[in-house]
Amino acid sequence: MGPIERSLPVDSERPTVEESVRSVRDVRVVLTALEGSPEVTVAGGRSGARKLRRVGDLVLDARGQAACVQEIVPSSKRYGLSVDGRTYRGRIIVEPHPERGLRAFNLVEIEDYVAGVVAAELVLWSAEPAELEAQAIAARTFAFYALGTLARPFLRDDALDQAYRGVPNVRGGAGAQAVTNRLELALAATRGQVLVRGGQPVDARYHAACGGRTTSHELIFGGPGAVPVDCMPCAERARSEVKGSRDPRRPLGWSTTVPAKTLQRVAAEVGIGSQIERLTPQTEDRGGRWIDVRLDGSEGSTAIAFDDFRHMVGTQRVKSAHIVRTWPAVGERVEQGLFLEGIGRGHGVGLCQEGARDYALSGWSGEQILAHYFRGARIERTQL
Ligand SMILES: [Zn+2]
Repeated sequence: MGPIERSLPVDSERPTVEESVRSVRDVRVVLTALEGSPEVTVAGGRSGARKLRRVGDLVLDARGQAACVQEIVPSSKRYGLSVDGRTYRGRIIVEPHPERGLRAFNLVEIEDYVAGVVAAELVLWSAEPAELEAQAIAARTFAFYALGTLARPFLRDDALDQAYRGVPNVRGGAGAQAVTNRLELALAATRGQVLVRGGQPVDARYHAACGGRTTSHELIFGGPGAVPVDCMPCAERARSEVKGSRDPRRPLGWSTTVPAKTLQRVAAEVGIGSQIERLTPQTEDRGGRWIDVRLDGSEGSTAIAFDDFRHMVGTQRVKSAHIVRTWPAVGERVEQGLFLEGIGRGHGVGLCQEGARDYALSGWSGEQILAHYFRGARIERTQL
């Protein structure tokens, strides 16, 4: 074979999903709450509790042992390790943070990681089996996509990747046992299952509530991914809320006032002076989400993705990009704060968790739910 042939990508040389899955046995998850901490205490290790702190470029324990990286192995696999009030299976790795203080990782087997993500992402007490199964496959797929396709060295334990709080913490007698059993059954039923398209894991994003229609992966994150689909349960609930009938336990609508001080900070961050004077949507998707907005400031204007604006002011405050009303009205001058009324929660790409729950209640399987939100993808069963 000549040099030209050797340099051509050959399909058979691309790793199969099975090979990619086998190459990721353990997941490295950064514990974001501890980023830059001066001290990290890990309990449950083979040599007891370890209080670690940074000295120069080394990590030092209370006995004076210093290392570039401290790796803590649990004394009992059953009880795991305890860090910052949470319990983790696998190992804890503590190393100097690139900027300051310490950084801690949990090195955990993929299926234990998936269990932790499902527990952190869903309300386990009320979750339906199909809802748990769909979430488990989406969580596993996203992990493989991020670690394999994007060649990322680690995942975050917050919503920027997937929420993960270690071992599922289900308390409360017989009911808790039933909840734990349901979770374990869903994990066993979907073990090793990955959502694939074109022979590769898909970017299986999900969000809390779409509000009636999901949005395009390409519009929000760039690149190929989930396409918009209608979500009938959300659409029906949104219609009821417009008529004044809102389920207080699961409202889709929200409202907030972004304070003047926050708007001033954003104006400075995007370089348009000391105040945002107008905020005008430029493009919207078919579901009514604001994609790009124009910000007119005291010293200039700029156009930014509304999703970036949401992150700057706080996604807990501005819960989605589907804005139904503002005060002052769009186009009018903002004098003080900006009142926003919207519908849905999260970025709106891929699987809608509220919709998945209602589809599960109506009898859909986990596979049917995923096929609905990820058109053209199929589930591949790998041997983990
Ligand atoms: Zn929905």
